[in-house]
Amino acid sequence: MGFSYQKQILHADSVAITELMQAYGSPLYVYSRTDIEHNWHKFDQAFGTHPHLVCYAVKANSNLAVLNVLAKIGAGFDIVSGGELERVLAAGGKADKCVFSGVAKTTTEITRALEVGVRCFNVESASELNRIEAVAKSVGKQAPISIRVNPNVDAKTHPYISTGLTENKFGVDKNEALDLYQIAQQSAHLSVQGLDCHIGSQITDVAPFLDALDKVLALLKQLKHQGINLTHLDLGGGIGINYDDEQTIDIQAYINAIISKVGDTEIILEPGRAIVGNAGIFATKVEFLKQNTGHAFAIVDGAMNDLLRPSFYNAYHQVLPINKATTGTQANWDLVGPICETGDFLAKNRPLSLSEGDYLALMSAGAYGFTMSSNYNTRPRVAEVMVSGTTHQIVRKRETVQDLFANESLFL
Ligand SMILES: *Cc1c(COP(=O)(O)O)cnc(C)c1O
Repeated sequence: MGFSYQKQILHADSVAITELMQAYGSPLYVYSRTDIEHNWHKFDQAFGTHPHLVCYAVKANSNLAVLNVLAKIGAGFDIVSGGELERVLAAGGKADKCVFSGVAKTTTEITRALEVGVRCFNVESASELNRIEAVAKSVGKQAPISIRVNPNVDAKTHPYISTGLTENKFGVDKNEALDLYQIAQQSAHLSVQGLDCHIGSQITDVAPFLDALDKVLALLKQLKHQGINLTHLDLGGGIGINYDDEQTIDIQAYINAIISKVGDTEIILEPGRAIVGNAGIFATKVEFLKQNTGHAFAIVDGAMNDLLRPSFYNAYHQVLPINKATTGTQANWDLVGPICETGDFLAKNRPLSLSEGDYLALMSAGAYGFTMSSNYNTRPRVAEVMVSGTTHQIVRKRETVQDLFANESLFL
């Protein structure tokens, strides 16, 4: 299932994308429920009987329907804000399967997380540990914690999505972690649960993950000598997907390697992109074709505000015609949007045969697509649709222009 051509037309599961665009308009995000479930099960099943929890990283795609599909099959969730916690709860997810990451949890967020009973706080600094302890004390509770350790390994990914080097803002170094565990161990309001690390995103080689794991296991051993026994190890997310035809990580082999090293310690993983990335596309329509002095531009109705990754990370998304049977002008097209920024592009230099009015799919747009979208240029955010087999349903209405300034008022 997922995205494939049937009789020259791109389909999501068994539904033609052309049909979706006629029903819901353009541009559009389309998700395959089948693919989302399949991708989560792949992680879950790879662990076999080893104790584990696969916590989907909500920030990759936080649509309630996506969260609900995952909650129903037993997923845990990795959240980075109070807003994401409320989304998970609204979608039927369980607080006791949520791990709470992020460098700057507010007092309000910590209070709410304690009230609903999250599984664990992933703590990123001494100050944050103090704050969590103070809040727990004030509400008469014990906060479950892990310390996020920065293993100082180079994930060899884009610098904006690399998080495991000491130059990044995330986590604490090994020595500080040892101190923080001592403090936490002695607090009546903190309960030491695990150890956490997350080294970056779109990592396509297993070596940095295993380097990080070795460093984390050495720390675990040191803690054990000090009488601090952790019950879980959270190895974060970051597993890369295929955007093109690059080599990426074999999930089963990665998880086998983890299991072979960790004894019977429970493992938590936080994959985001690997669950939803390939389970979604961004569909857009060619408005105008324009050839300027040797440059071929296809101006489409989608833009950087809808799909930021190309502009922000220079990311590559495959571009496919939604109807392969159409013929048009063959050229190496730059796909650009209507926004008044030179950086407003979705793809560059793609050999395609295009006519005005054609529909195109930007593939692998299910992760960090809609969630990074904005209203720049007063553009309403696009609709999101989920497909399952032969059925399809809108899971987020297209915004109206009135929605965009509903919270604004004149200065009287
Ligand atoms: C972003 C993030 C993830 C998910 O990363 P992916 O590359 O989407 O798998 C997991 N854990 C933490 C702490 C994150 O910040």
